[in-house]
Amino acid sequence: MPNNNVKSVAMEYLDKPISECTNQELYYILLKIVQREAKLLPVNNEKKKLYYISAEFLIGKMLSNNLLNLGIYDEVKAELAANGKSLDDIELAEIEPSLGNGGLGRLAACFLDSQATLGLTADGVGLNYHFGLFQQFFKFNQQGYKPDEWLIEPTWLTKSDVQYEVPFARFTLTSTLYDLEVLGYKQETRNRLRLFDLDSVNADIIEKGSISFDKTNIEENLTLFLYPDDSDRNGELLRIYQQYFMVSNAAQLIIDEALEKGSNLHDLDEYAVVQINDTHPALIIPEFVRLLTTKHGLTFEEAVDVVSKVVAFTNHTILQEALEKWPMNYLDEIIPDVANIIRGLSDLVKHNFPGNDAVSIIDNNDRAHMAHMAIHYGFSVNGVARLHTEILKNSELKAFYDIYPERFNNKTNGITFRRWIMASNHELSEFLDEKIGRAWHHDADLTGLYDFQDDEEVYQKLAEIKATKKEHLAEHLRITQNIPIRTNSIIDVQIKRIHEYKRQQMLALYIIKKYQMIKAGQKPKTPITILFGGKAAPAYTIAQDIIHLILTLSDLIQRDPEVRPYLQVEMVENYNVTEAEYLIPAADISEQISLASKEASGTGNMKFMLNGALILCTLDGANVEIAEKVGEDNIYIFGRSSEEIVDLYARNAYSAHDYYHREAIKPIVDFIVSDEMLELGNKENLRRLHTDIANKDYFMALIDLEEFIDVKEQMYADYEDQEAWMRKVLVNIAEAGYFSSDRTIREYNDDIWHLESNYQTEA
Ligand SMILES: *Cc1c(COP(=O)(O)O)cnc(C)c1O
Repeated sequence: MPNNNVKSVAMEYLDKPISECTNQELYYILLKIVQREAKLLPVNNEKKKLYYISAEFLIGKMLSNNLLNLGIYDEVKAELAANGKSLDDIELAEIEPSLGNGGLGRLAACFLDSQATLGLTADGVGLNYHFGLFQQFFKFNQQGYKPDEWLIEPTWLTKSDVQYEVPFARFTLTSTLYDLEVLGYKQETRNRLRLFDLDSVNADIIEKGSISFDKTNIEENLTLFLYPDDSDRNGELLRIYQQYFMVSNAAQLIIDEALEKGSNLHDLDEYAVVQINDTHPALIIPEFVRLLTTKHGLTFEEAVDVVSKVVAFTNHTILQEALEKWPMNYLDEIIPDVANIIRGLSDLVKHNFPGNDAVSIIDNNDRAHMAHMAIHYGFSVNGVARLHTEILKNSELKAFYDIYPERFNNKTNGITFRRWIMASNHELSEFLDEKIGRAWHHDADLTGLYDFQDDEEVYQKLAEIKATKKEHLAEHLRITQNIPIRTNSIIDVQIKRIHEYKRQQMLALYIIKKYQMIKAGQKPKTPITILFGGKAAPAYTIAQDIIHLILTLSDLIQRDPEVRPYLQVEMVENYNVTEAEYLIPAADISEQISLASKEASGTGNMKFMLNGALILCTLDGANVEIAEKVGEDNIYIFGRSSEEIVDLYARNAYSAHDYYHREAIKPIVDFIVSDEMLELGNKENLRRLHTDIANKDYFMALIDLEEFIDVKEQMYADYEDQEAWMRKVLVNIAEAGYFSSDRTIREYNDDIWHLESNYQTEA
């Protein structure tokens, strides 16, 4: 056992005492300590392994989480403190990996943590992007883009000696596999996140000061960026190159590992189960068929049968534009053998379900539907919250549910409590330990808090913790982004990808209303701080316009001495896991205001609940289940129901124009193009957004606006009674246990994966 106190390792590597090390040096030392300790733990290696394949893993910084999971966090922190060093400061030296983008990627990261914590034999598989999606910055109140560089030594990656050949029509590429250790909470074993890369990738092809590059230069661009712009043909081709590279490597790895354990490949399902996170990895189905038939002697029928017992599919969205459909001629151009296998799979479906066009794989426009392929040739399809799964079964995927009812199941998402409370909110975590003991570290059961429902001291303490976390956030935003916020204000937060269905524009319209109210003399008792964070896809024009509206409003308010004392609006740059870890513990109000039926689950909602923010929401995604747990007195619900919305779309019956002309709405929407806004902002952005909202409003911000305004006003008024507020906060924390990803992963394992386990299955 190596000697792993910080002092001795600092002497070993740098030959100096802790007090003389820089934070950067200490970061390096701590990384070495974690990696040594991790390598002492055997890798889980039961006969059957789960391969969780995902285009993204939004894992966040690793240091604190790994120290915590190794059980040495407190010890290390104390040793550093005794030498005048702060672990929080040292953590600033770590760069967050840019391997993901939003909720789907963060879910994959929470799942890895829970799989390791439950001791399951499970690896994550994905790609090692060098620059992620992009690093966001704001200039002239517009979103700007830089490569999000993170592969700067020291990193947590270790290069393995695994390499595969991936054959494309025009060339063959050789991959390199990197591993990242995945530690469970106080577990004696570990798992890995396995990321494939390409040695020939070349950052020099990125045009200076942008994220543009030659999309046709596959050998040099393949793993540069996550979700490269696919608004043109070359962009779509590149996405197919990336996806196939990911799944061909994964399939070869899975087959090799099974062979090594003694599989004859006819029994592959006894050695491997593959969960595909959305459709990005769906090409693994024809790739398995290709490898099994051409390299391992199975017939087409045998290979199809094997694959269908190995692959399970998670659906993450019902948004039509997000359901991938690849033109067959693109697939013919890049991976002709795979394209032909897809034709074979499609013919089989046509033969089995004649005339049932709704379930075809290749449609009349000669496009291959990845989701359809995954449902026909997988053994499980799950939605990610109860409402979402019901919508899949009853409308979006009804044609499939009718033929394969037994394949459909729900797995309501969850979050890992290690990162989202123990690491990011020590204050609350320690308070819970003191009040209800430490069993929740393992079972996530926080209902012991109900014993303190009438305890004023507990309310007082919860309020103090919130105040402390507001101070931490304020300090962080001041230092890193030069944003000063008032710590005595109500902190009201909407952080998530910018998308019309998530309706950041509706909150922006509320801000206009509040601005007008304050101008008219209706001043809030407690000042309000509304914080946004989120990236918009570069090719998504309206999302850019929404960012511009928010930043322009922020500017307008900041310049207005009448309004400024009561209202502040800020958009945090480059929202990521690190920012989330500061923002969520400090929030009083969590905005979960998507158009009902459109948010599959959401996981941000769960993180806020756990950290004692009250939720303002529509009955969408997992909000429905949260509302059920906490009861309607402890959550703020508004808006049309998902049934009404699904029906409005079906009948094409929503008229933005009718809502726009309502007395309560028109002055708010028109303010977007008022003289003061046009003077401060960009006319093109503001006019385009105004026209869109007034005439189209595809995601129906106006339908719920009036009710939204009323509920927000009620919520701010309720905040003034801190005791009643804290009573609700306590219930939200107490009920958060269900939303632990440990629960979600147990359900996946019990219903879908059936891996060897020694955790207790709940009755
Ligand atoms: C949790 C999380 C998300 C998902 O948030 P939603 O509100 O569920 O969309 C996205 N990004 C980051 C950084 C997160 O931590």
